[in-house]
Amino acid sequence: MDHKKGNILMQRYELGKLLGQGTFAKVYHARNIKTGKSVAVKVIDKEKVMQNGLIDQIKREISVMKLVRHPNVVQLYEVMASKSKIYFAIEHIKGGELFNKIAKGRLKEEAARKYFQQLVAAVDFCHSRGVYHRDLKPENLLLDEFGNLKITDFGLSALVDSKRLDGLLHTTCGTPAYVAPEVIHKKGYDGEKADIWSCGVILFVLLAGYLPFSDANLMGMYKKISKGEFKCPHWFPPEVRKLLSRILDPNPTTRVTLAKIMENPWFQKGFRKIETHYIPRSVLDDENFFKYTESPKSSCADLKGLEERAIRKSSSMSTLKPTSMNAFDIISLSQGFNLNSLFEENGQAKKPEARFTTKQTASEIVSKLEEVASTEHFQIMQTPNGTLRMKGQKEGRKGQLAINAEIFEVAPSFHMVEMKKLAGDTIEYENFCDQELKPSLKDIVWTWHGDQQTTETSTKHHP
Ligand code: AMP
Repeated sequence: MDHKKGNILMQRYELGKLLGQGTFAKVYHARNIKTGKSVAVKVIDKEKVMQNGLIDQIKREISVMKLVRHPNVVQLYEVMASKSKIYFAIEHIKGGELFNKIAKGRLKEEAARKYFQQLVAAVDFCHSRGVYHRDLKPENLLLDEFGNLKITDFGLSALVDSKRLDGLLHTTCGTPAYVAPEVIHKKGYDGEKADIWSCGVILFVLLAGYLPFSDANLMGMYKKISKGEFKCPHWFPPEVRKLLSRILDPNPTTRVTLAKIMENPWFQKGFRKIETHYIPRSVLDDENFFKYTESPKSSCADLKGLEERAIRKSSSMSTLKPTSMNAFDIISLSQGFNLNSLFEENGQAKKPEARFTTKQTASEIVSKLEEVASTEHFQIMQTPNGTLRMKGQKEGRKGQLAINAEIFEVAPSFHMVEMKKLAGDTIEYENFCDQELKPSLKDIVWTWHGDQQTTETSTKHHP
């Protein structure tokens, strides 16, 4: 599709001028036809996404990004798809790139600190929701009309990542200057630590007006990055030098954490922590796209009025608090708004996990699962991240079955439980689900969701 001015996208957005072009996407200005609201539409070729093995991660991160709100993160409103393209309707940011500011020269300490505080707070917020950027650099930092920083591409980074991993040495615009050493070395890396490194490079650039690691050739730059070899200019305050030496530590395991950065006295100056948990989720532009009704008795995709709650997990089994969900989570899990359809590989969507909704409380669900585990001779325990793990004692074809159960709170007396196989043979797992688990849970299950084959088929046997 040719995205000319005046084009109407999905009968919802009128596309305007091209705002910019990144490594893998074009960004257009657009107007929501119904509300008149200005948005930015990022257009990505599906093919580029399909080329890599990160589909699940992208799907997960996109659904998380649809749920998070942070004043310093560009908001993702809506995901749409055509046969060949994926469209992201995102918050339109009017102040241009932070990069343009630096291009005019280094910033004063106060200004640099303000941007750094906003950057770190936003990155910390997304990390707390399990989303990593992995491509933080000034081009991904936009400014709104009030001069506040807005990070773009959070949650879409896996797309950038794949581009970078196969094109690191020959990308022309994608500079590796912000990339952590462990990413360059293509070792499996921790997104959290890699983002912290990039924040350090950004802080340096804001205050210096040039890069900490640069060299006449790329190999020279890589060497410096690998050794964490950089020199602060004379105008850097001593506190900043110390902080940077802790952030730009080439060893990710000893690199300072975001929590420690935020405790740093230089960082703390004038810092106001934003209480993100209480930012109300406004109903997005697309009331017609998402339908709401009052009661959880209606279809799963039609839940309304469910307050947004921060995602929380508990630490002990007796007080296990479920992960909270809201209408948007449910919608993205439902058939009608399933991101699977955006990412089907060879026309074959992966079988989703078994999920059921229930009107029991979290502790009733836990007791029931404990009861089932004990009759089925499964061990049950709570993992540190608050999910329940059931492990069979019988040796199966591929070892013992291990199943993870995660409880999501939709409303105080309405929960969704997601069961996933962690280990063991799939057919044994499916048989166990169909023959043991489902009948045992029938008293508490309101309805099963997901793939009918997974949830309702009869017994399968090994050939
Ligand atoms: P990206 O692919 O995110 O690097 O975007 C390419 C360019 O499009 C950016 O450098 C910005 O100039 C512009 N852009 C991206 N997102 C937005 C947005 N939400 N609002 C306004 N301009 C944007």
